Amino acid sequence: MIVSKETCEINEEFDFLRRTRLEFQEAVQFIDSKTRSVDKGVIMLLEQPFRQTVVRFPVHMDDGSLQSFTGYRVQHSRLCEPAKGGVRYAPDVDLDMITALSLDMTLKCRVVDVPFGGAKGGVCCNPKKMSRAELDRLTRRYTYEILPVIGPDSDVPAPDVGTGEREMAIIYDTYKMFNPRCPHGCAVVTGKPLNLGGSQGRREATALGGAYVLEEAVQQRQIKGLSSLNDTTVIVQGFGNAGYHIADILANDYKCRIVGVSDSKGGIYCPDGLNPKEVQAHKVKSPEKSVTGYDGLKILNVKQLLTSPCDTLVPAAKETQITAEIAKDIKAKVILDLANGPTTNLAHKILTERGVYVLPDILSNAGGVTVSYFEWLQNRAGENWELSLVKEKLRKKMATAYANVVKTSKDHNLDLRKAAFVLAITRALEIILGRGIFP
Ligand code: NAD
Repeated sequence: MIVSKETCEINEEFDFLRRTRLEFQEAVQFIDSKTRSVDKGVIMLLEQPFRQTVVRFPVHMDDGSLQSFTGYRVQHSRLCEPAKGGVRYAPDVDLDMITALSLDMTLKCRVVDVPFGGAKGGVCCNPKKMSRAELDRLTRRYTYEILPVIGPDSDVPAPDVGTGEREMAIIYDTYKMFNPRCPHGCAVVTGKPLNLGGSQGRREATALGGAYVLEEAVQQRQIKGLSSLNDTTVIVQGFGNAGYHIADILANDYKCRIVGVSDSKGGIYCPDGLNPKEVQAHKVKSPEKSVTGYDGLKILNVKQLLTSPCDTLVPAAKETQITAEIAKDIKAKVILDLANGPTTNLAHKILTERGVYVLPDILSNAGGVTVSYFEWLQNRAGENWELSLVKEKLRKKMATAYANVVKTSKDHNLDLRKAAFVLAITRALEIILGRGIFP
């Protein structure tokens, strides 16, 4: 069979791991073209995960049956320890997806200069079709299976799609049962409930970090046609943890008009603006647990929502949402990539050529890992920081990261996404070379 260049590009566009590695390799080539000193062996070390753990385990279901699940924990790098990354519960979780997300984590930690390595975990399951008790049993057993590779000094999980404070509390409790004398046991996981050592501001950290980055870009007049956020329009795809909070923060703290939101069941659009708290209350109450049906608004599909008129578009759902096909019709002036990998490489190229300012994921959503780092620090020091202190420290971290990415972009005439990769890989190489190779 003859496979055309076009077919290859399309396959690449939908293959999250392949396109993440491709971007990584392009950034490495760029660094090499400037320095002529990139060692191929060191690059292999940085590109490939350090350890991939795959576990298969049984869970008793409420109807008395036994079901088997596959779980993953991928530690991408131990440039700095502990490794750090979320745990995802979703039906499409597989080893490639978790590996791609773990590489993103390694790069993200370097962009915000948080002294962690990258990791990610997950279980292939459908949490929407499982009871609370089934999910609790699944979380306990998954944690038990990955106990040999996690710990406050080795690898620290956190929430991601399909998981939240409850799962983090169970991870902590299970770890502590098997490590009763561990002095900082609760630092084994972040994103815990406040009364179990969670940090103020962790719940909304990913969104808040994204808002700070967007604010910096607007204040520094980097976005064509956007000199203030006041009364500008915003569409948010994915009304979950990251998506709900960014809608709420942009509406209340920055006086933006949230004109569209969506979740896995569909999207809604209202040019006069939506109140995120009211939409959230509707979602919680509705039998479908969805934003659809709110105020009788028409239900839109993914493409219709993403290409509706707005100033700022925030993909906050999952990877591979803004594809080349959608990118050419996007009306937004700026895209804040709050999800991991929502904008494909091909789409990014089209958007950049069209003059759309794209704030890349490894910068925009790094607020989550940054406040996770603050939580880990508080747990180890036995401290409990005020929300105002968490916000002040987060703002500083995000503003500095944005400034460094912009500087790299200007110094080398690169778009922000490539600049973020170049900055992260350059810093990672410095750490590897500084530590040296054992033995
Ligand atoms: P979540 O499970 O709380 O929310 C995800 C939301 O997206 C849900 O409302 C779901 O219905 C919706 N969704 C799924 N498919 C969709 C589709 N095709 N169209 C529209 N909506 C869809 O997850 P989250 O924690 O908010 O994570 C969202 C994204 O942000 C992920 O890519 C995640 O990796 C990334 N992220 C999360 C954090 C964090 O701290 N939670 C940190 C960094 C990055």
